Amino acid sequence: AKEEPLCIVVVGASGDLAKKKTFPALFSLYYHDLLPNDFLIVGYARRPMSQEDFRNSIMESLTCRVIDGPQCQQKMDEFLPKCHYMSGMYNKTEDFVRLDQLLNNFEQSFPNTRVDRLYYLAVPSQVFEDVVHHIHYSGRTKRGWNRIVMEKPFGKDTTSYLQLRNSLRNCISEDEIYRIDHYLGKELVQNLMVLRFANYLFEPLWNRDHIASIQIVFKENFGVEGRAGYFDEYGIIRDIMQNHLLQVMALLGMEQPVTLHAEDIRDEKVKFLRCIRPLKASDFVLGQYRDRQNPQRSYLSEPGIVNNSHTPTFAACVFQVNNRRWSGVPFLMKAGKALDERKAEIRIQFQSVPGGLFSQIVSSHLPHNELVIRVQPDEAIYMRILSKAPGFTSRLEEARLNLFYRTAWEDSKDIPDAYERLILDVIHGEKSLFIRDDELEVAWNIFTPALKEMELTQDAWKPILYDYGGRGPVESDYLAAKYGVQWSEGD
Ligand code: NAP
Repeated sequence: AKEEPLCIVVVGASGDLAKKKTFPALFSLYYHDLLPNDFLIVGYARRPMSQEDFRNSIMESLTCRVIDGPQCQQKMDEFLPKCHYMSGMYNKTEDFVRLDQLLNNFEQSFPNTRVDRLYYLAVPSQVFEDVVHHIHYSGRTKRGWNRIVMEKPFGKDTTSYLQLRNSLRNCISEDEIYRIDHYLGKELVQNLMVLRFANYLFEPLWNRDHIASIQIVFKENFGVEGRAGYFDEYGIIRDIMQNHLLQVMALLGMEQPVTLHAEDIRDEKVKFLRCIRPLKASDFVLGQYRDRQNPQRSYLSEPGIVNNSHTPTFAACVFQVNNRRWSGVPFLMKAGKALDERKAEIRIQFQSVPGGLFSQIVSSHLPHNELVIRVQPDEAIYMRILSKAPGFTSRLEEARLNLFYRTAWEDSKDIPDAYERLILDVIHGEKSLFIRDDELEVAWNIFTPALKEMELTQDAWKPILYDYGGRGPVESDYLAAKYGVQWSEGD
């Protein structure tokens, strides 16, 4: 654990993210002795709340993996007194001065050492600017580093992102800002670089000569549930594709970095992203869920959704990467809510075997070998291969070379939540799992032309309605077929 004392301020402490993710992750880090010996956590938000109610809300929303741990209660009893609530506005200097005083009082107990400050912004993006401005003018410590963690949305397109960036630039440096994409904290996403670059096997095949297509799929089996207002403004492309799935794609497609240093990794991601041809509206199939049996569950019936909203809850698209490694290999991406299952996975389909050695046994084409990386649920990496069925038969059957985390590693039940890993990295100043400024700009450049086109023509089209709990619009199959690909379903 870090040795110097630390102040952690969660701005927006009364909100959904703070309760669901930030506080459970902080507690889990404490439980595993990964926070410094001396720390103070301050929850800051507008609504009045007693210390007791605040601490109860942390305790009640404990969703982290330690909930059944043997010392959970004892650790919680130690943790809670270090958590304080302060009610304040996001745009009032006096309130931030009061917050600063509270933090200063803590700092004064450690006259001879560095004391750092970590601000976690768990507030809607409308207040980012105000909060960062006040942190800069009233909330910085001179006794150590100041770091600010931010969550998406980082703008809605290239222009709005650049506006946000310019408005924050006067107050915080790139060095101090940690932009979270929690997908980068997921175990299997962290494993992508290891899989590619620490094994001899894959890298020689990792190119257009051997790979036929790559699919990146995200499915949820529930609708917008409580986040309708936010979602309706952003939609699935901005909420999932432009950030989480594009990050996965960059790690799959980039060249080997010079070192494992954050800047070297992020340099390679940016180079790869710059090779992607910006998307047009015609590269997409867009859908919106409805429930014919229970119309109340349809997207348009969710409270908070604008009448006749065209916001897509499902999107599929195809990327072309213009570089020597990937030219001609379609990268297919699909993300949807209210589908048949909850899953996030990557499927790398290799070319078909040339020649007809087995044509007397197998009448059709041999199926592609496929490398599957399942990010959630139930983490796994497996390879689909063809094998002779055992016995006197000469029949060929599809089989798997398996790495199921659940069975391969005893402690795989104990995989830290992405937020634990990410907050720990902020404390240690490790930036490779955070999004750099230029990376975001290029990411927006890829999507902005299509998003603009969709907005300008939105009177002329509607998302395709698909059934709640189904596979999504069949048109996404036609889109894949245009590139000679079939979405892999099931195992
Ligand atoms: P939230 O619950 O809507 O808001 C957090 C807190 O901010 C609220 O408790 C409220 O506290 C204050 N607030 C809400 N609306 C406000 C407004 N219009 N003006 C000023 N203050 C307002 O948000 P969240 O879901 O926790 O998300 C926080 C941030 O994380 C957002 O940027 C969001 O996009 C991002 N994020 C959230 C999730 C998630 O799962 N929830 C996932 C990924 C990213 P007071 O009224 O007490 O001040």
